[in-house]
Amino acid sequence: VTMLYYNVIVVLLRRFISVYKLTFYDYSQKEQDRAKTQKKKKEDPSVIKEKEVAKYPSCMFFQYNTQLGPPYYILVDTNFINFSIKAKLDVVQSMMDCLYAKCVPCITDCVMAELEKLGMKFRVALRIAKDPRFDRLPCSHKGTYADDCLVQRVMQHKCYIVATVDRDLKRRIRKIPGVPIMYISNHRYSSSIRYVSP
Ligand SMILES: [Zn+2]
Repeated sequence: VTMLYYNVIVVLLRRFISVYKLTFYDYSQKEQDRAKTQKKKKEDPSVIKEKEVAKYPSCMFFQYNTQLGPPYYILVDTNFINFSIKAKLDVVQSMMDCLYAKCVPCITDCVMAELEKLGMKFRVALRIAKDPRFDRLPCSHKGTYADDCLVQRVMQHKCYIVATVDRDLKRRIRKIPGVPIMYISNHRYSSSIRYVSP
């Protein structure tokens, strides 16, 4: 019987040692990898610094964007106007109902160009976009792809809210900290804005 116990103990010990070796090996491997990545980081410090700046702008205080406050400047995209017409919502009034503050909808040149391209069917949308209560923002980029234009604008200036119903654009905006989205749900406007407590 003692012989049997002895065998069992030996087997267990061997297994323990093999497991220990494996984990130790893994650990050393990871350590080497980490050292490699650190070396890589050291090689090119300027790139990382740029990224850090882009991630945490000075106007961001924890999760709140201190640059946002009434009057709210709201970048409107093409579909947002079209859906508002379908839902019979007045753009400026519905924005104010949503945020309880003065709102200035902003139309970029490329959104205007998109509306003009859509033709006669969307002439109501075009007329709304030319409303004097809307701010007109000039574009300096090539082409008329509005999504890229809006994303670039909010990356540079964190003073806008983006009004859109486009799923892809919403996903892109959500990744940018401090930029709230305005969308349409249940026949009214809603917003993902976080208010700064006074
Ligand atoms: Zn543009």
